[in-house]
Amino acid sequence: MRADVPLHRSLLLRLLAVSVLVSVCSIAATAWLTARSTTVAIRQEQGQALADDARTYDTLLGYAATHPGWDGAGEVVRRLARDTGRRVTITTERRVPLVDSDAGPPATLPARPTASIDPLHVDTVLAAASGAPLAQGTPLASVPDHIDPRAVGPFLLPGKERDALRTAAERRAACLRGSFGAAATIADSPSGRPVLDTEGARPYSETRCVSTVLDRPTATEAKALAALQKLVDSCLERRHESKVRLNLDFTWTPLPAPVPAQAATDDGPRGSVVPECVTGSRREQLAPYVAPPAMLFISSRGGDTSTAFDLSPENQARIAGVAALVLLITVTAGVMAGTRLSRPLRALTDAVRNMEEGRAARVEVKGKDEIGRLAAAFNAMAERRERLEELRKAMVGDVAHELRTPLSNIRGWLEAAQDGLADPDPELVSSLLEEALLLQHVIDDLQDLAVADAGELRVHAEPVDVADLLAQVATAHRGGAEAAGVTLVTRADGRLPLVADPVRLRQAVGNLVSNAVRHTPPGGTVSLLAHRADGDVVIDVADTGSGIAPDDLPLVFERFWRVEKSRSRRSGGSGLGLPIARKLAEAHGGSLSATSVVGEGSTFTLRLPAHGHAGAHSSGPDRRTR
Ligand code: ADP
Repeated sequence: MRADVPLHRSLLLRLLAVSVLVSVCSIAATAWLTARSTTVAIRQEQGQALADDARTYDTLLGYAATHPGWDGAGEVVRRLARDTGRRVTITTERRVPLVDSDAGPPATLPARPTASIDPLHVDTVLAAASGAPLAQGTPLASVPDHIDPRAVGPFLLPGKERDALRTAAERRAACLRGSFGAAATIADSPSGRPVLDTEGARPYSETRCVSTVLDRPTATEAKALAALQKLVDSCLERRHESKVRLNLDFTWTPLPAPVPAQAATDDGPRGSVVPECVTGSRREQLAPYVAPPAMLFISSRGGDTSTAFDLSPENQARIAGVAALVLLITVTAGVMAGTRLSRPLRALTDAVRNMEEGRAARVEVKGKDEIGRLAAAFNAMAERRERLEELRKAMVGDVAHELRTPLSNIRGWLEAAQDGLADPDPELVSSLLEEALLLQHVIDDLQDLAVADAGELRVHAEPVDVADLLAQVATAHRGGAEAAGVTLVTRADGRLPLVADPVRLRQAVGNLVSNAVRHTPPGGTVSLLAHRADGDVVIDVADTGSGIAPDDLPLVFERFWRVEKSRSRRSGGSGLGLPIARKLAEAHGGSLSATSVVGEGSTFTLRLPAHGHAGAHSSGPDRRTR
C-alpha cells in the first residue's frame, strides 16, 4: 500500500511556503522602502511647492497693495511662473480670468483657489503657515488689522517730502550716535517715511535729539490723515461713540468728551468700536488705491494640480493589488515548480517500492537535470540489481548442477560395485578419483571466489621473473597442448621485473592458457607474450581458436557463464576460470580484459603494476595448490 507523504512534510508545500515567505518579505521590504522614500520625496516636493507658493502669494499681494488694478501685472505673473515652474492664474472673485502666466487655452481651474489676494483683508493664517516675511521684514502674521502695510494709498510721500524727512532722520541718527554712542539705523517704510531704529539709545536721548520735521506729519500725510479722521469721525458718530484723535501710526488719543472717558487704547472699556471704525475707515480710504480682490490659482504646467504620487487610499489599494498579483504569480510559479520537482520523486519512490516487492522497477527519464540524472542512475542500478539477482539464481542452479554430475557418477560406480555389476579394479578407482578431483576443483574455485568476494584474497608479493613464470606455465600445459595438436609459444621482451605472488600469477595465466588450448583446433597456436607498457607488465595469452562473439565477450567474466551452455563439465571448465583470473589480477592491483574475432582467435590481456600493489601482502587464507 502506498503511504502518502503527510501534508506538512510535502516537498511541494514546503517549497511553496518558502517561496511565499520570500516574496512576502521582499514585497514588504520593497513597499516599506518605496513608501518611505516616496514620502520623503513628496514632503520635500510639497515643502518646495509651499515655499514657492508663499513667495508668489507675497509678491502678488505686494503688487495689489501698490497698484489700483491688475492690468499691469502680466510681467510680474510671468516672471513668478518662470521662477517656480508653475502656472499662475489670477481671476476675479467670480473666477473670470484677469492675468494668466501661460498663453493658450485657459487653465482648467481647480475647485479651490490657492489663495485670495486682498491687501485690505490679508489672510494671516496662510501668511503665518508660509512664514514668508513681507517687505521690510514685517511678518505678515503680525499685522493686526489684516491690512497689508505696503498699502499706503494717499500716505505715499512725494519725492520732495521724502528727501526732507530723510535729511532730518540722518541728522537725528548722527546726533544719537554722536551724543550717546547708540546704534541708529534708518529704514524706509512703505510710504517712504524713514524709520529710525534707535536700539540701545537711552530714554532721554529722544528729548536731546529732537527733530520737529521728523515728528510732525508732512503736508501729504496731514492731508491724508485729515481725510481719514473725517471718515473715522462719521463712523463713530454713527455708532454713538465719543470722538478720538488719530495719530500718524493709526493709534488714537481720546478727545475730552462730555462724559469723561479715560481709556485710550483699543482694549479699553469702549471695546472694539474704535478699532473697528479705524480699520474700516482705512479700508475705505485705501480702496481706490489698491487692486480689487482677486483669486490666485497656482497649478502645475499641465494644468493638473494633483500631486503625481501620494499614499491616498486609491494608491494604497493599487499597491495592495500589485502585491497580491506578485504573490499570486509566486504561488503559481511555486506550485508549478514544486509539482515538476515532486512528480519524478514520487515516481522514483513508487519504483523503489516496486523493487522492494520484487517487481520490475524503472522510471521515465525526462530532462538532464539533477532529477533526470537521479532517475537514470536509479534505472542503471535497478538493471544491475536485476542482472545480479538473475546471476545469483543461475549460480545456485549451476553450483547444484556442477556438483551433481560428478557426485552421481561416483555414486553410480559405487552402487554398481556394491551390486557386483562392476569390478572395483584400479581402473574404476582411478576414474572415481578423477571425478572426486573434479568435484574438489569446483569447490576450490568456488571458495577462491568467495574469498575474493569477501575482499580477503591476499597475495604474497615477491620479485618474479616473468619469462621464467611463462616458461613454467607453458611446461605445465605442454602435454595437454601436444595432445590437442596445439603449439605453445612463449616470448618475453627482455628482462621484466615484477613484484607479484608467483603462485597466484601462475594460477591466473594457467587458467587463460587452458582455456586457449581448449578452444583452439589442432594445428593452432597459443602464444604467451610479455612486455612492458606504461610502467605495467602486460601478459597476453593469444590463440588462433574459435573466438568469442562480440555480444558474449563481456559475459565471459561472469560466473558459470559458458558460450556452449549444454557443454558438459568434462569437456570444458567450470565456468569459474575467467572470473577467478580477473579477481587474481585485481588483487594484484591490475586488470584482465579480452579482445576477440570470431573464427580468428582471442587475446586475453593481463595487466599488472610492475612494483606490486599496496594491498598485496599476505593475511587471508592461503591455498596455493589446486
Ligand atoms: P570454463 O571453465 O567454461 O572455461 P571460463 O570462465 O574459463 O570457464 O570461460 C568462460 C567461457 O568463456 C568458456 O566457457 C568459453 O565459452 C569462453 N572462453 C574462454 N576462453 C576462451 C578462448 N580462449 N576462446 C574462446 N572462448 C573462450
